[in-house]
Amino acid sequence: MAGRLGSDVPHRRLNLLTGEWVLVSPHRSQRPWQGQIEGRPPDERPAYDPGCYLCPGNARAGGVRNPAYRETYVFDNDFPALRPDAGGEGEVVGGLLRAEPEAGICRVVCFSPRHDLSLPELERSAIRRVVEVWTEEYAALGSRDFINYVQIFENKGQMMGCSNPHPHGQIWAQRSIPVEPAKEGERQLAHYRAHGRTLLEDYLRVELEAGDRVVCENDGFVALVPFWAVWPFETLVVSRRRVASLLELSDAERDQLADILKRLTTRYDNLFKVSFPYSAGIHQAPTDGRPHPEWHFHMHFYPPLLRSATVRKFMVGYELLCNPQRDLTPEAGAARLREVSEVHYRTERAAAGAEGC
Ligand SMILES: [Zn+2]
Ligand SMILES: [Zn+2]
Repeated sequence: MAGRLGSDVPHRRLNLLTGEWVLVSPHRSQRPWQGQIEGRPPDERPAYDPGCYLCPGNARAGGVRNPAYRETYVFDNDFPALRPDAGGEGEVVGGLLRAEPEAGICRVVCFSPRHDLSLPELERSAIRRVVEVWTEEYAALGSRDFINYVQIFENKGQMMGCSNPHPHGQIWAQRSIPVEPAKEGERQLAHYRAHGRTLLEDYLRVELEAGDRVVCENDGFVALVPFWAVWPFETLVVSRRRVASLLELSDAERDQLADILKRLTTRYDNLFKVSFPYSAGIHQAPTDGRPHPEWHFHMHFYPPLLRSATVRKFMVGYELLCNPQRDLTPEAGAARLREVSEVHYRTERAAAGAEGC
């Protein structure tokens, strides 16, 4: 942070996208950085696992057999959280307790047939294929009458409750606009009405001038630790151009999105030399049939790790009762992510092994 507050004074910062506050306590993280790698969980996996329900040719729990897919593979979730046929009337009990039916569709996106390669280890062309699938799914699901919002996301790693290590993401599309995008939509609309520019367009200008929270960038996108980040190494990937959704990205920008995702997730893996767990997802315009010039395409990464491959941040106590709090400043988090290489540690390890032979 540019002013005095960044160094060691407890302060709170406003999240521009949600209007909520985060408490920053930098004096609590002045213990020296050890960078130790404690009890690293093994991250060696086979390229194909006969017991994996997402690998090509294998049977899933519902009995369906996956095709021998060679790039990406998308299918309806066998255990969906939402169903297209959920209908009926809403109800209010005792004048207070309100419930409404919620219809939706849940899809699963296998990033590649390889069981062992997560996003940072895929070729840019393969990540670009994932971007294409996201775009196709957003268009197809969003065009359904009853789908007003499409959430594309990935839970990576056991720490994030991911049930299968095969690299994959999910898409939940639904009738209502969920809480987080609804909050962000309101804040973006208010800014757009007041200034005629998107909130993130103006925010990105401030961040590029400051520079100390930027992690990496290319011609289409900037990856940065947001000023109001809650998680130690939380990042936001923002398109330089004002685009409301994946549908407006140019051919070059799709390549650039694949590039920035590869570089950012490689930095994540290299930070603690571990396949870095996170929840990540795209926020973009609702598919409610209305124009959304206020919406600015972006992607959030929320990783739980704090100091090593096993020490994570918990949202407890004060955070459940008041608001999120962090010790490591967003500027310090960004500096750590800038320090590490964009060559994946497993690639380096393999190269070193080959030299040794
Ligand atoms: Zn698999
Ligand atoms: Zn967002």
